Amino acid sequence: FTAIDTDEQAEKDDFTPGVEPQPTWCPGCGDFAVLKALKGAMPEVGRTPEETLLVTGIGCSGKLSSYFESYGYHAIHGRSLPVARAAKLTNPGLEVIAAGGDGDGYGIGGNHFMHTARENHDMTYIVFNNEIFGLTKGQTSPTSPKGHKSKTQPSGSAKDPVRPLTLSLASGASYIARTAATNPRQAQEIVKEAIEHDGFAHIDFLTQCPTWNKDAKEYVPYTDIQQDDEFDFDVTDRREAADMMYEAENRLYEGEVLTGRFYRDEDRLTYGEEKRKTGEMPADPLAERYFDEDAEWA
Ligand code: SF4
Repeated sequence: FTAIDTDEQAEKDDFTPGVEPQPTWCPGCGDFAVLKALKGAMPEVGRTPEETLLVTGIGCSGKLSSYFESYGYHAIHGRSLPVARAAKLTNPGLEVIAAGGDGDGYGIGGNHFMHTARENHDMTYIVFNNEIFGLTKGQTSPTSPKGHKSKTQPSGSAKDPVRPLTLSLASGASYIARTAATNPRQAQEIVKEAIEHDGFAHIDFLTQCPTWNKDAKEYVPYTDIQQDDEFDFDVTDRREAADMMYEAENRLYEGEVLTGRFYRDEDRLTYGEEKRKTGEMPADPLAERYFDEDAEWA
């Protein structure tokens, strides 16, 4: 993936593929909102399709890379983050975005999620969280509430769900937010912020699945924690952010949806910056490989 640095200003429509495939998502699916937010945010960030790589995992969410104009890579299940990391380290000029579902990201790829956050790789990771596996017809996922009934857990899940925000903070992500498909204005703002953030930016994007999670909440009404005086906390303070996440994750399973920015650390170096600081990695690895005739290619 070769980032082409252009002076051109992209418009929202530039991120729609020339041969536009019609999304096969079900009517009312929250995934449409992620695509809309991403297309809306990119021109505001000032990036073009030629400067952007979107890596997706497996699931309904994985189709995102087919409906978004940029470099794209549809990775195997749970493995979007290793691909995204390699691309960003090799070509620091690329704007790298990874995306996938809660099953893909918090289950099958959970280990990659934890370590990509820990190492603070400079990328945006959007997790479509609909609390089930959608593409494979509604099985229980890592974020399904305890007691949730599905074909794989007909008597109800006996497991407590993963807490994505808390997990992300404990792992080391330097930007953590939650938004919802039902709140498109906030969603676009958060996607923009996450892309502009230098470091690992994780968005837990609540996306309703009306087909297989009929009993689940539609994620309305929601509360924007930055707009409500009840939730006055410092997003740059790890301890206050942890308390706020704990509160939000408890309330979600009681039917109350809290969205917004939960944590931001602007000071921490990214993994690539750490590597370049020690001299272990060249400033522009791609350029050196291109122009070093003696370089060994794998
Ligand atoms: Fe969306 Fe669910 Fe349909 Fe998949 S199955 S496209 S997640 S509504």
